[in-house]
Amino acid sequence: MKIADKKVVLIHYTLKNKSGELLDSSEGHEPLAYLHGMGNIVEGLENALTGKQAGDKLEVNVEAAEAYGEYDESLVQPVPRKEFGDHPVEVGSQFHADTAIGPRIVTVTAIEGDDVVIDANHALAGEDLNFNVEIVEVRDASEEELDHGHVHGPGGHEH
Ligand code: ZN
Repeated sequence: MKIADKKVVLIHYTLKNKSGELLDSSEGHEPLAYLHGMGNIVEGLENALTGKQAGDKLEVNVEAAEAYGEYDESLVQPVPRKEFGDHPVEVGSQFHADTAIGPRIVTVTAIEGDDVVIDANHALAGEDLNFNVEIVEVRDASEEELDHGHVHGPGGHEH
């Protein structure tokens, strides 16, 4: 079975940045399961996997724009300290926040007087990525999975 929209795909992967630094890997874990064509994984990787099948191994280089986006200076903004309520805030703290571009994990990059400077860029924004992928399994998605837009069971959502 070839990878196409609405197929469930299980992959083992190793992710490195341009300088060869290891960022993430499924090695030693269950393979990652995702629903193809639904934007569950970065666009550049998803495109490269289309038409491939179980057993295929590939190396995919994805430019920042097709991965987690270019680094956007406008996503770095001061927020009044009082908006964090009783939460301890220090440089490096991370919070879930509703931003202009949807829910994001934001990172505190500086504290300036009564303001906390937060960065809503993805931690990998601006990074060109290198994936080494082995396709473990390709199967049809259940109706429920298509309904939810994600995979259930091993490597996917447990609910
Ligand atoms: Zn679900």
